[in-house]
Amino acid sequence: MDEKTDIKYLKTVGEKRSKLLNKIGIFTVGDLLRYYPRDYLDWSKVSSIAAAPFDGNCCIRAVVDHKPVGAKIRKGLTIYKTVVTDGESLMNLTIYNNKYAAESLCAGCEYLFYGKVTGNFHRREMNSPLIAKADEADKIQPIYRQTAGINSRYIERLVKQVYESGGCTVTDCIPLSVREKLCLIEVNKAIRTMHFPENYDMLAEARHRMIFEELFVFRTGLMLMRGGRKKTTPVNIKKDYTEEFFESLPFEPTSAQRRAVKDCIGQMLSQTTMNRLLQGDVGSGKTAVAAAVIYTVVKNGFQCAFMAPTEILASQHYNTCRNFFDKFNIRIALLTGSVTAAKKREIKKSLADGEIRLVIGTHALISDDVIFKNLGLVITDEQHRFGVRHRGALGHKGDSPHTLVMSATPIPRTLALAVYGDLDVSVLDELPPGRQPVETYAIGSDKRTRAFNYVKKHLESGRQGYIVCPLVEENESDLASAQEYAENISKGFFSGFKVGLLHGKMKAADKDSVMSDFVSGKIRLLVSTTVIEVGVDVPNAVIMVIENAERFGLSQLHQLRGRIGRGQYKSTCILITDAKGEAVGRRMKIMTQTNDGFKIADEDLKMRGPGDFFGARQHGLPEMKLAQLTDTQTLSEANRFAEEVLSDDSELNKPENRPLKEAAESLFKSNVMN
Ligand code: ADP
Ligand code: MG
Repeated sequence: MDEKTDIKYLKTVGEKRSKLLNKIGIFTVGDLLRYYPRDYLDWSKVSSIAAAPFDGNCCIRAVVDHKPVGAKIRKGLTIYKTVVTDGESLMNLTIYNNKYAAESLCAGCEYLFYGKVTGNFHRREMNSPLIAKADEADKIQPIYRQTAGINSRYIERLVKQVYESGGCTVTDCIPLSVREKLCLIEVNKAIRTMHFPENYDMLAEARHRMIFEELFVFRTGLMLMRGGRKKTTPVNIKKDYTEEFFESLPFEPTSAQRRAVKDCIGQMLSQTTMNRLLQGDVGSGKTAVAAAVIYTVVKNGFQCAFMAPTEILASQHYNTCRNFFDKFNIRIALLTGSVTAAKKREIKKSLADGEIRLVIGTHALISDDVIFKNLGLVITDEQHRFGVRHRGALGHKGDSPHTLVMSATPIPRTLALAVYGDLDVSVLDELPPGRQPVETYAIGSDKRTRAFNYVKKHLESGRQGYIVCPLVEENESDLASAQEYAENISKGFFSGFKVGLLHGKMKAADKDSVMSDFVSGKIRLLVSTTVIEVGVDVPNAVIMVIENAERFGLSQLHQLRGRIGRGQYKSTCILITDAKGEAVGRRMKIMTQTNDGFKIADEDLKMRGPGDFFGARQHGLPEMKLAQLTDTQTLSEANRFAEEVLSDDSELNKPENRPLKEAAESLFKSNVMN
């Protein structure tokens, strides 16, 4: 039996049970061994009856006085009663409806009873405790997450069975040298201890090792994917052209923008490879920073690639960049999935011979036949959507190009360290002048008409607005569906205004034409799903209504809200929800209280945890079983050792590093997006 052995070949499993086990992610013996207990039941700390606490569970070691006597209380309910003693005090024991448990107790025998002690000081009692034979004492019993048809006891027996039938040797993916330096215990011992710890100290040791392993494999995987980055680069930037670029802008850059550009150019001038994360709240002007850096790189003779997560955003960046660069006669192109084949061919040719200096696009940019003449800089506008793989892939298209990653919404510091730990960070902690915070209200749907009147007032005074709905088509649930919704309001309440509709299932060309009608002001009110979340910039839009606001996470709401409040006008965001839950209430409250993206990101992380923070399935982050990505101390240790191992063996081809490579690759394989 080895790690890869299918679980169905274990005795007592078979086809039917194996299907149930599959449901909780157990496919192989290895999966079973790594299905760690969610908790432990401590039979080892035995209390006397007299000293048993009245709150919480405890374990009592006692002798059964007489065989339990059953009494039928009513149909379907039989209770069994007996008395037990620990030699000092007596305790009443009641077992509900469990004939098997009751009859297994024999008079004069000693057992362990685990449960809650109630009653009074005169006579204590315990109801339906867990029962074990006393000679099985001194044990910490694992408690597993269960599923229909598979209970914790069964999993416990199954794991035992693996060990009793000779076990299954798991290959240790932490190289011995690392283990020795950190005094980590060996993997097989650790796993066995996770299931059947002899005591809590050993359990802690085992847990620590497994947590370290997860983070270590995670960090190694990230670094592997980003490729053996060289510290030096042939992308030789000799001169800084920033001032020239800034002078051409219609606005004065903020000091935060100046600082960020200087960080980037300074590093490139020093001839080390730039790997930088640009963090900034929505509307802080990240695009202008990117453009400034692009300008210097292009003027130094290199090409740039700018990757956006959606077509809408890519074409918006394209238009913005044309405004920036046309006057300098810098040739740029847009390459997305919906560009015609002929046009694609033409663009690819001009990229290969170096005529196009800047290409903007979606992940179509990573396709194999896109070849650059001399790629000097890769910028990805993350929006949390690219799997780490995509980011890496574009970097491989040149000879160690500089990279700049822009995050759409602020990422809490601890999480940034986990995911972008090998990047330098620049923060835009200042908004362009004149921005006013978006006033935000949360209301019930009974007040929708009032909200609509408010929207109408703004449209009448020449402004534009958004209404965000969660879904596209009509659905059984009563969630507002964008399509139907748009029809209704354009015929009804907003019949005097041109209403547009934008959703993810539309053809790219249709999306573009709706978007450009909105940008030009022809469409006054845009009904949309979350596709507008990604960075769309229309300063004349000053009002946003979000339907079913409870459906969105905090960061997403903040990102949506960031579409307004971008110009000189005061903006308002109205969150409509009828959901009552406490968590929803908290989210709404935070939204109405603050516009600070970093604060919101922290709250979001607290409420949802790191996996969900990046949005379900989109983040490309692997799931951790034990570790928290916010466990900074172990994480930086994992970081340091991943670096150390990779600096010695950049592709992990040495035999002692192979298991690590395999673990890292399989961790990310199951999590690649698209
Ligand atoms: P984000 O950081 O969310 O990507 P954008 O780059 O889209 O923000 O910028 C938001 C808006 O602010 C754009 O309309 C942009 O032209 C404008 N902007 C950027 N920098 C400045 C500045 N220094 N002064 C005034 N407006 C600016
Ligand atoms: Mg942006």
